[in-house]
Amino acid sequence: MSAPVLDLSDNTNCYGAPPSALRALGIVATVLKDSSMLGGDDVTRYPSATADALRAALARMHGTTSDRITTGCGSDGVLDAAVRTLVAPGATLAHPDPTFSMIPELVSRNRLVAAPVPLAGDGDIRADLLLATGAAAIYVASPNNPTGTPASRAAIARLAASGETLILDQAYADFTSDASLDLALARPNVLVTRTLSKAFGLAGLRVGYAIGDPALIARIEAARDPYAVSAVAERAACAVIERDLTWVRERAAEAVRDRARLAAALTACGFAPLRSEANFVLVPVRDALACAGRMRERGVMVRAFPALTGIGDAVRITVAPSPALERAVAALAEAAR
Ligand SMILES: *Cc1c(COP(=O)(O)O)cnc(C)c1O
Repeated sequence: MSAPVLDLSDNTNCYGAPPSALRALGIVATVLKDSSMLGGDDVTRYPSATADALRAALARMHGTTSDRITTGCGSDGVLDAAVRTLVAPGATLAHPDPTFSMIPELVSRNRLVAAPVPLAGDGDIRADLLLATGAAAIYVASPNNPTGTPASRAAIARLAASGETLILDQAYADFTSDASLDLALARPNVLVTRTLSKAFGLAGLRVGYAIGDPALIARIEAARDPYAVSAVAERAACAVIERDLTWVRERAAEAVRDRARLAAALTACGFAPLRSEANFVLVPVRDALACAGRMRERGVMVRAFPALTGIGDAVRITVAPSPALERAVAALAEAAR
């Protein structure tokens, strides 16, 4: 019998879900079976329209106040509300190229004009060229998806200090040593988005948030869908933030160690993976679609990226613990042959 399919295509947490979240979900399920108990409300009643318990928990985690936090259905939901609020139809959104696949989607959905700016050779963003576009807002993911490369502290500082509206997507902040959150938060023009989908292991529950100046946050809260975070998701997210940050940090540290092992194993096979500070590695290959197809035949799912600007074809592999890591390397080595 062949081994089950190994899905390394979307950078979710291959180390599991936090125990406190699973306990919270278990309690909701138990309570639902006995309608006389408190807690079934999580399913039969509406949640808080603005996820107030979650905002309070996130504010405590970041040492700030709730008026600096907005939440959404994943950070995709937060990005959607932010882009709708900050960039009017017909206006320009500048972003590094390549970047997160949701950005072209948000550009077309909101009838914006995209101003893509190629990354520098070392994977850093080009702050001067992004500013030179004269865009209504600049989006930067750091570490970036799909490259895994971080923007330098100097480049983020330059954008933050420019006064231009900056959406800084830190979905992978937990896997890097310097997310430059301090630089971003010192400025009223910067919105930092984060997610519980990656290091926090809750992608299926769809919880994202953003931190920023209270005036900026108030505008986005007004544009966001009410009840965007379900009561069940909010309960699980609060449990993790209040009780399981050690679990999150330890699993992220494991992923960082496994990322180095994955990169080393790939290099030993003759590949040249990009220097990643996220929980995935981008590997340039010939014919990414065919390569990913052959890996799929070997039971390993990765994401194919044909013709990335400045990189060419590449496959993106999510970091996973052994023996998944070795299986992925073997599948790629055979598929790329
Ligand atoms: C995965 C990812 C997200 C997270 O999306 P959610 O909607 O929170 O699951 C956001 N930004 C980037 C760059 C990502 O790679």
